Amino acid sequence: MEWTDFEKRFLDHMTPDDKDYRSKTYEAFRRIVPKLPDAAFPSGLCIHAPSILDSGEVWSMENLQMVVYFAPHIEQYPQARVDFVVAHEFAHVVRGSASRPTDTLEQERQDEEETDSLAESWGIAKPPACKQCGQFYPARSGWPNPDVSAGQ
Ligand SMILES: [Zn+2]
Repeated sequence: MEWTDFEKRFLDHMTPDDKDYRSKTYEAFRRIVPKLPDAAFPSGLCIHAPSILDSGEVWSMENLQMVVYFAPHIEQYPQARVDFVVAHEFAHVVRGSASRPTDTLEQERQDEEETDSLAESWGIAKPPACKQCGQFYPARSGWPNPDVSAGQ
């Protein structure tokens, strides 16, 4: 998708504060969006990347069908990791693989691997796992985690 189309459709409501506090996510959008197929942006899609300053929020959207969420703590990751998180989540959109409560752990693991492969097929390299904890998403287990730069 063209960046200007993406900006108009999804980022119209972003304030300068949002851009400051989600600067890596915003930068990842700039890098990744032009590489993504149109199927990554179906109608009824909402991108939710709340600022770290928001305590909570309510919003409504006509014909809302799917939400892609980017957690504030990814701002602590190195840029290459944020890029891959963004590509990975849009790969879920393209694959239609929103998580289902009935999935087994094995199904989930396979779905995540196939989703990573699709993201990599768009030319976005998957960064190695954290050298200390072996996790790809190390902040998950204990945010805030200052060690997420490891493994870049
Ligand atoms: Zn995933």
